[in-house]
Amino acid sequence: MEDIGIILKALDFSARRHKTQFRKGSEKVPYINHPIQVANLLVNEAGEKDTDLIVAAILHDVIEDTVESVEERQELIFQMSEIFNKKIISVTLEVTDDKTLEKKERKQLQIDEASHKSVNAKKLKIADKIMNIRDIRDNPPSDWPLERIIDYLDWSEKVVSGLRGVNIHLEQLFDESLLTARSKYQPITNTLNVNNKNKL
Ligand code: ZN
Repeated sequence: MEDIGIILKALDFSARRHKTQFRKGSEKVPYINHPIQVANLLVNEAGEKDTDLIVAAILHDVIEDTVESVEERQELIFQMSEIFNKKIISVTLEVTDDKTLEKKERKQLQIDEASHKSVNAKKLKIADKIMNIRDIRDNPPSDWPLERIIDYLDWSEKVVSGLRGVNIHLEQLFDESLLTARSKYQPITNTLNVNNKNKL
């Protein structure tokens, strides 16, 4: 019951923080669906049972996506530490990008730092990438050209290669999501390449 209590507190906290946000897909999905799906995947598809991990999954985008300034970020972390334990806060921070850096640099850092993350941060990051790829496969952002989708898939694969070795089910679910997304999008690029070659 204690565990259900903290999980519900995390859902309430995260829902309030993300209340005005939507996912990138062309179908307008409330943002909170995403952290709920990541937590659900960890428990019900990948067999994870650690409450701290589940709570961190529910909170995983709160610091990255719901503050604008350094002061707001500090205030939010303070509020979170009044409710959630140190392990939860530290995993949440481990999966939070430094938004003061350029996007390109942040993306490279995810690749470079992947293998140095804690076990729970690695599990959470793989689950996050699985859900992002499933979303891109099933409900892609309408303003993303094919090239951007392919780049995202390639980049995710590189990040996850540094996260492997913590849960075989997560790895299989990731590989499956990547494969199905590629088979949806990449035959088109292959055809385009062939057509381009023919023209030359
Ligand atoms: Zn996420």
